[in-house]
Amino acid sequence: MPKPILLAIDDDTSVLEAVVQDLRRHYGQDYRIVRAASGVAALDICRQLHERKDTVALFLSDQRMPGMTGVDFLQQALTIYPDAKRVLLTAYADTEAAIRAINSAKIHYYLNKPWDPPEEKLYPVLDDLLETWKQGYKPPYEGIIVVGTRWSSADHNVREFLSRNRVPYKWLSPEQHPEAVDLLKERGLDDSKLPVVIFGDGTSLVQPTSSDLATKLGMPRQAQQKFYDIVVVGAGPAGLAAGVYAASEGLGTLVVEGEAIGGQAGSSSKIENYLGFPQGLSGADLADRAYIQANRLGAEFLPALASTTALRSPRPSPALTKSSTSLAERTPPARQRCTSPATLAKSTCSYAQIRSIRACPSTSSTRSKRHPTSPSRPARRSSPCRAMATSNA
Ligand SMILES: Cc1cc2nc3c(=O)[nH]c(=O)nc-3n(C[C@H](O)[C@H](O)[C@H](O)COP(=O)(O)OP(=O)(O)OC[C@H]3O[C@@H](n4cnc5c(N)ncnc54)[C@H](O)[C@@H]3O)c2cc1C
Repeated sequence: MPKPILLAIDDDTSVLEAVVQDLRRHYGQDYRIVRAASGVAALDICRQLHERKDTVALFLSDQRMPGMTGVDFLQQALTIYPDAKRVLLTAYADTEAAIRAINSAKIHYYLNKPWDPPEEKLYPVLDDLLETWKQGYKPPYEGIIVVGTRWSSADHNVREFLSRNRVPYKWLSPEQHPEAVDLLKERGLDDSKLPVVIFGDGTSLVQPTSSDLATKLGMPRQAQQKFYDIVVVGAGPAGLAAGVYAASEGLGTLVVEGEAIGGQAGSSSKIENYLGFPQGLSGADLADRAYIQANRLGAEFLPALASTTALRSPRPSPALTKSSTSLAERTPPARQRCTSPATLAKSTCSYAQIRSIRACPSTSSTRSKRHPTSPSRPARRSSPCRAMATSNA
C-alpha cells in the first residue's frame, strides 16, 4: 500500500529544503514527503495525487508566497482533500492574518518560523495532528473484490470457494453498488459476464473456476514428488486424520482436496463434540490445526484440486477417486500389509502411485530412516490459508 503523503509548500527553496529534511527525518518511514515551490504548483500536485487515488495526510504551507498565499492554497486544497490536516507556516508579521484565516481555511494549526529545534516546535504539533488524522483514516481497500449478482450460482460458487479457503474478499453487485460498474468499466468489462474477480494487483478473472482462482492465489497445483506411499483424497476431518496418521508413520503422504481443507466441518461455526476440546471449536479452527499438524509431520497438500486431475498418470495406474474401486481391491498385497487402512479412515483414502518397495515401510528399519525419533519435523511449507492472506493484503 502506498504511504500517505505529507505535502510541504514554500517558495523559498532553502526553507523548503529545510522543512522537507526535517519531515523526512521524523516521518519518512511512514509517510511520503512531497514538496511544491508555490501554491499553484501545490494545487496541481494535489489534483494529480487525487486522480491517482493517493492519500494526503497533511499540508504544511508557507503563508507569504507570490501568486497564491498559503491560506488561499489551503482553502482550495480543502475541497480536494477535506480530511487532510492543514498547517500554516508564518513569520511573526503574518500571525494576525493566520489567526483570521483559521476559520476561512479551517487551518488546524499555525507554526511560527523558525521552527528550530524541530523536536520541540515542529514534531510534537505534527505528531498530534497525524495521530488524530490516523484515527479517522480508512486505508483504501486493496484486497479481492468479487463483482457479481446475489442469486447467481456462479457468483455463489466463487464466494463459497474464497470463504471456505479463508481468503478475505469484498462483494459488490452492479445492481446495488455503482462503484462495481466503474470497476468493470475501468477494465473494459460490463455486467454481461459475471462474476468478475478483481485482485489487489489490478488483474481480474471473468467467471473463474475454482482451479483458476487457486492458481491465481498461488495454491500449489502440482505434487512435489513423483511417487507417494499414500494419497488421501479429500481433506475433511477423516482425510485430515488419515494425513496426520500416515505422515506420522513415516509414509510419503499427499492429501488432495477438491474444494477447501476442512470438508463439511470447515463450515461449522462451532463443533461441541470433538474429542479433546471441552469448550468446542470452530470447524475452521479444527481444520487449521489438523492441517498444521499433518504438514509438520511431513504430509503434502494439494488444496482446491479434484483428485481426477491431480492424480493423472502417464501409464495405467491405480489412481483412484472417491468413487473408484476400494483400497483393498486396488492395493497390491505387499502394501496392504504395510499400511493400516483402519487408521486411514473411510473411502477418502486411496492410492495413486505406488512406488516399488523393497522393504515394508512399517518395519523399523525403514521407519527409522524416514521417521526420526523426534516426532517434530520442520513444516514443509506454511499453511496455504496463511500464504493466501499474505498475498492479498
Ligand atoms: C454446518 C455443519 C455443521 C456440522 N457440525 C457438526 C458437529 O457439531 N459435530 C459433528 O460431529 N459433526 C458435525 N457436522 C458433520 C461433520 O462435519 C461431518 O460428519 C464431517 O465433516 C465428515 O467428515 P469427512 O471427512 O468424512 O467428509 P467431508 O467433511 O464431507 O469431507 C470430504 C472432503 O472430500 C473432498 N472431496 C470429495 N471428492 C473429492 C475428489 N474427487 N477430489 C478431491 N477432493 C474430494 C470434499 O471437497 C470434502 O472436503 C457438521 C456438518 C455441517 C455441514
